[in-house]
Order: sequence, then C-alpha cells, then structure tokens
Amino acid sequence: MRKPRGGARPDPSRPDRPCEAPDCPLPGEYRAPRDRFQLDKYRWFCLDHVREYNRGWDFYKGMSEAQIEGALRQDTGWQRPTWPLGRLGGARLDPEILRDPFHILSDQVAMAQRKAAAEASRPPPELRAALDLLDLGWPIDSLALKTRYKELAKRYHPDTNQGDRSAEERLKDINRAYSLLRHKLAGAEASAR
Ligand SMILES: [Zn+2]
Repeated sequence: MRKPRGGARPDPSRPDRPCEAPDCPLPGEYRAPRDRFQLDKYRWFCLDHVREYNRGWDFYKGMSEAQIEGALRQDTGWQRPTWPLGRLGGARLDPEILRDPFHILSDQVAMAQRKAAAEASRPPPELRAALDLLDLGWPIDSLALKTRYKELAKRYHPDTNQGDRSAEERLKDINRAYSLLRHKLAGAEASAR
C-alpha cells in the first residue's frame, strides 16, 4: 500500500467509476480536463494515471494549434509526437511520457495534421474569385497558371469571337485574374527562395 504523494487527495465530486486508463482496476478518483477546449469536462483516473495524463496535458497547455504544429514539424517529419527539450529540462525525457499511453498526443497530432492539410488545400480568400474565373484548383504553380491563361486568352480573344462584346469583357476579367495570381505566386516563390 503506497501513500498518496504530494498531498494529492481524491476529488470529492468524483463519480463512482474506475480509472479510465486501459486495464486499470483502480477507482477513478482524480480528475483531469478532457482537452484544451473542454476545460469543464473531465476524465477520471487513479493517482498514478492522472499524473501521467497531466504530464502529457501540460505540454499543450496554452499553446495554439499552430504552435503545436510548429513544435512537431521540428521533429522527425510527423512520424511521432515529440516534446521541446526545454520544457522537460534538457535531456531528461521521461520514457513514460513518450509512450503516450492514452493516445492523447497522437489524437491531438492527428487533429493538427488534418487541420493543416485542410488549410493547405484551401486557397487564400483574396484569390478565390480569380481561381474560379480561371477554373483553377489550389495550390497552383506559375507554369500551370500560365498554361491555363494562354488557353483562355486564346478562347476569348476578340479575333476568335468576331468582336463579341461579352467575350471581350470576359477576357478583361481573365487578364485581371491572371495578373493577380501571377503577382501572388511570384511573391510566394520569391519568399520561398
Ligand atoms: Zn489508473
């Protein structure tokens, strides 16, 4: 029989249920916030497991998803969750933490990854109209843009439309859209170098 450490006491409002850690037979007497967005919802663990849970939790406390993502990107290309060494006091990484026993971190990683993928496939708002007009997807490179532009410019050129006014207007729109996208891509490619 171990004595509770650090003066921790079972939560008086605990529900009568076992610890949520897999296969743990102890009563779930200690509460932990469910996640960063549901601070008023709890999970219930035994003392050892609540401590384990809280160590994983603390890493993300106060961090935005972008920050979590940034921290993860610095590691092995999204292969596994990692911790900034500074937060854990240098090289003294606790192997228990790295095991991520409740998949708390891997769940959050998956969530951040899904969000990043969704962001990457969505064009910046100021470019959407131009992309629609040229019937282009996102992301796009300057070669694809140029190819598409040439195609449309030819199709709506006054010479191929017997001076049709609507084709002429359309071509003006296409020129504007092309110009906007070209500048945007040139800027993005310059800053990526
Ligand atoms: Zn437990």
